[in-house]
Amino acid sequence: MAISKSMTRRNLQLAINNSHSSLDTPARLELEGVTVAYNGKPALQDVTFMVQHGAHVAVVGPNGAGKSTLFKALVGLLPIQKGRILIHGLPMGHHKECVAYVPQREEVDWSFPVTVDDVVMMGRYHTLGWLKRPSLHDQEVVAGSLERMGIGNLARLSISDLSGGQQQRVFLARALAQEPHILLMDEPFTGVDIGTQDATLHLLEQLRSQQVTILISTHDLNLATKHFDQVLLLNRRLISYGPPEVAFTTETLNQAFGGQILLMPGGAIIVDDCCPPADKVDPETLHDEHNHAGGGKG
Ligand code: ADP
Repeated sequence: MAISKSMTRRNLQLAINNSHSSLDTPARLELEGVTVAYNGKPALQDVTFMVQHGAHVAVVGPNGAGKSTLFKALVGLLPIQKGRILIHGLPMGHHKECVAYVPQREEVDWSFPVTVDDVVMMGRYHTLGWLKRPSLHDQEVVAGSLERMGIGNLARLSISDLSGGQQQRVFLARALAQEPHILLMDEPFTGVDIGTQDATLHLLEQLRSQQVTILISTHDLNLATKHFDQVLLLNRRLISYGPPEVAFTTETLNQAFGGQILLMPGGAIIVDDCCPPADKVDPETLHDEHNHAGGGKG
């Protein structure tokens, strides 16, 4: 299992667009003063925000900002040091099955001997229970999820035999089979082919009509601006949260990305998310990164 993220150099132009929707229905997800730490060192600190019912939120920040940590805390994979998370107004645990999580591809052991339809059926476990056999309805939901992701023909293949884009679609199909109210996707657009990117964006639009609340982490400011109602700019602490044209300002992007941004004439912003500038590298973090093996990012 990979323990560190691949760092790609990308220059991204930010075009400020209008956001899509007004959000005036009841909250689905609330975080109040949430702190999550590894070995006593906070990766998320005092984070408070509320995501309204059916909103599509892009979680944006540089490598190491705490985006994956946030998602893992939201599905209970990491303990919370301080604060609380509410789903439908209730503490974590009450609505666990409502939240589907698609991890980064590199966090998954793709050599595990399991077929595509077995993986997607895992999305039904909350309704099945561990000892019950899948019903006809469960099988139909699984087949329908595979079809929606355009991989119905791959059902009997082993996940190790798939391309990166196909593997991503399998995990999206598994999330769909769960029929979630909240869908969390960690970097679904990184390292996949354009067809899979488009299929993912198409799926998001379909889920909009079903009022599924969506949080996606991405480095891509352009994509966040074009396709999401809200952006949540994070760098360990919450820097800004709101419609893209409000949350992305020179000041907030500077706070998040530091010396990695370059302002161009006409307001375009170039972000280099390859590596943090040397003066921002925390030697302790470097030490941590090298000691992740075993208990690391996977
Ligand atoms: P992002 O997803 O924004 O790149 P992460 O949530 O992966 O950020 O990491 C946030 C911080 O927590 C980083 O400093 C990272 O090194 C640290 N971290 C992540 N996972 C672990 C772990 N298992 N053990 C110790 N530190 C970790």
